[in-house]
Amino acid sequence: MTSFPLKIVTPDGLIYDGPAEEVIVRTVTGDMAFLARHINCVVPLGMGLATVVINGAKRHAACIGGMISVVNGNVTLVPTTFEWSDDIDVARAEAAYMRADQEIHKDVLTDTEIQLAQARLHRALVRKNAASYKK
Ligand code: ATP
Repeated sequence: MTSFPLKIVTPDGLIYDGPAEEVIVRTVTGDMAFLARHINCVVPLGMGLATVVINGAKRHAACIGGMISVVNGNVTLVPTTFEWSDDIDVARAEAAYMRADQEIHKDVLTDTEIQLAQARLHRALVRKNAASYKK
């Protein structure tokens, strides 16, 4: 497969800078795949599994928020957080899931508190799912 230059950058720093053959990410409207010669675009990301194909091998990651852009063949992924499956602390994701689950079931919560707890739950679920691809 033809490769293209991919950068993955988060507030934690540069995660990846090199060639890739395919990137699949969860956008706000569903999963989107990016191949070489994709049209220029900027797409906001949701929360979900990211799959990156590098030298024919698939790598999986938890990819939360941010955006992906394609400019003249250069693909840049700028998520709020991005963890390769091997780097995910499963116990931490489990603990975050339990805390958010307890929060959601409290009796008195404002709409904002419900939304924040749901987002925490969603992040934890995405991390648990991505961690299932650990080698
Ligand atoms: P927690 O409640 O466990 O902190 P969170 O969803 O609030 O989870 P974030 O604010 O999304 O965490 O992320 C903060 C930082 O911690 C980011 O650098 C993110 O990559 C990292 N991170 C969060 N959870 C995990 C995890 N389970 N394994 C590895 N890194 C994680």
